[in-house]
Amino acid sequence: IASYKDVYKSFGEVDVLKGIDLEIKPAEKVALIGPSGSGKTTIIRMLMTLEEPTAGEIIVNGQNLWHMERRRKLVRANESHLREVRGDIGMVFQHFNLFPHMTILENCMSAPIHVKGESKEMARDYSVEMLNKVGLGDKLENYPSQLSGGQKQRVAMARALVMRPKIMLFDEVTSALDPELVGEVLEVIRQIAKEGEMAMVLVTHEMDFAQEIADRVVFLDNGVIAEQGTPDEVLMHSENERLVSFLSRFR
Ligand code: ATP
Repeated sequence: IASYKDVYKSFGEVDVLKGIDLEIKPAEKVALIGPSGSGKTTIIRMLMTLEEPTAGEIIVNGQNLWHMERRRKLVRANESHLREVRGDIGMVFQHFNLFPHMTILENCMSAPIHVKGESKEMARDYSVEMLNKVGLGDKLENYPSQLSGGQKQRVAMARALVMRPKIMLFDEVTSALDPELVGEVLEVIRQIAKEGEMAMVLVTHEMDFAQEIADRVVFLDNGVIAEQGTPDEVLMHSENERLVSFLSRFR
């Protein structure tokens, strides 16, 4: 459903990604792990079109976001293509990014109405359903500032889900939370994963969680995919020294 072909990304002098080839299949759950600064966030931001590659191709749902013309010039898809692609992707960030002046119901209803052109009634019904799914059906009229970090993150998930994405991107969604709130957020992700039909890419430092829900674990190191495979292969039985040393920090 999404693929990266020989993707490079530099910020000024810093070469962050140096030739990434990665394919995400429909309904596949992929955990992206790697040291801080290895480019994990950059990879998923590029899928959401929040960042553009320096070179290479990115294809989502059969649509080219960027491709190289005659192998030299990077060409960006036109706006209507990009909008269509963004509609297929939901993203949840480390720092929630909720609209502070809107209730949590309004936070969820906003994109279906303004981006997809859904009726208010339809957007409301589905938002309520998704807020119920993440266990916040009793907080519809609350504002983000009245919620705990874990609750805010669950609103962020409901807000992504109301767009009925084909791919959900999770960028270290538990790392800004107090430890006692991590469990409730992981539980919601676990539930969404179990339902199955959506592809998911999770940037995470929760190795046990990656082991539990990922179909595939991808280890990013020094701008390349240094190892990938099933959770067992990557997290339990790899002989890649850098990976073993990285994992030892979590044990
Ligand atoms: P972490 O686990 O710490 O979040 P990461 O693997 O997600 O790290 P990225 O956030 O993708 O890494 O960043 C990779 C590198 O790119 C870092 O060195 C970062 O400083 C740099 N970088 C990211 N975004 C920008 C930007 N907009 N301008 C300049 N440098 C950037």
